[in-house]
Amino acid sequence: QKIEWAKLKNEKTITTDGHQVELAANIGTPADVQGVLENGGEAIGLYRTEFLYMGRSQLPTEEEQFKAYKTVLESMEGKPVVVRTLDIGGDKELHYLDLPKELNPFLGFRAIRLCLSMQDMFRTQLRALLRSSAYGNLKIMFPMIATLDEFRDAKAILLEEKEQLQQMGVQVAENIELGIMVEIPSTAVMADVFAKEVDFFSIGTNDLIQYTLAADRMNERVSYLYQPYNPAILRLIKNVIDAAHNHGKWVGMCGEMAGDEVAIPILLGLGLDEFSMSATSILKARSQISTLSRADMMSIAEKTLVMKNAEEVKQFITSNVLRG
Ligand code: PEP
Ligand code: MG
Repeated sequence: QKIEWAKLKNEKTITTDGHQVELAANIGTPADVQGVLENGGEAIGLYRTEFLYMGRSQLPTEEEQFKAYKTVLESMEGKPVVVRTLDIGGDKELHYLDLPKELNPFLGFRAIRLCLSMQDMFRTQLRALLRSSAYGNLKIMFPMIATLDEFRDAKAILLEEKEQLQQMGVQVAENIELGIMVEIPSTAVMADVFAKEVDFFSIGTNDLIQYTLAADRMNERVSYLYQPYNPAILRLIKNVIDAAHNHGKWVGMCGEMAGDEVAIPILLGLGLDEFSMSATSILKARSQISTLSRADMMSIAEKTLVMKNAEEVKQFITSNVLRG
């Protein structure tokens, strides 16, 4: 099977009826890029920049960040690289920021909330990103966006930094796509409003599931409620994809669900454009997608949307698609 998959390394990802999607990888450090290329990744759909900030005693400098981003962009040789701005908080703490302990860190002062408040830190990262944009195909996305104002504020700061750099004569790519993570239910519901202003969405199901079912993604005792196939999740995903496509925008997914063999047929049917997963899942996913018909998956997906629960969806896909 592994040998069969290896043949697909340099292939595109196309269904039996000619519908093409992009298979991308999630990375945490520049060292991960090699694995992406070896496993046939067409892009990086999520570069988690937190790792640059973790396991050290102070914030990384602009220069350190610039080097990391530039390395990733150059190694990807013009393939798209979606970099997510700092998503600290929740389970990822930075002790040197010395932030007060919170009762509900996952609902607290984290990610874009923290960046919009600690603007020096945010601006340093944005400058490093903007400077790196000259070396490849950079797209930037903001994590944990809950309201349109947060996106507008973050975008305004980015544009300020861009203008300043350009005035100083620094080269910055002209058309950097700017997107958001959809991982908070309010944003999934309001996707049609966001779609007018963003260039793309990336659905973060790891958090979207936890927030939609109110089930902590780290808590074993409620893990039975952490249900990727719950029709509530599928309907939110459909809403996001339809909203984006109505406005000519593309949609990726960078949560674990994007590489899941039960979820993939549904996501394909719903029209997901980019699937971003761990590098080692890419060839398997490509092999699966190349056996599926988009038209068939559209009617399969439609049926799952009106099912009663996650179990029913899973059973249906398992017996009608995976064994079919
Ligand atoms: C997500 O929430 O789905 C996601 C990709 O981000 P993270 O797992 O880093 O929170
Ligand atoms: Mg997340």
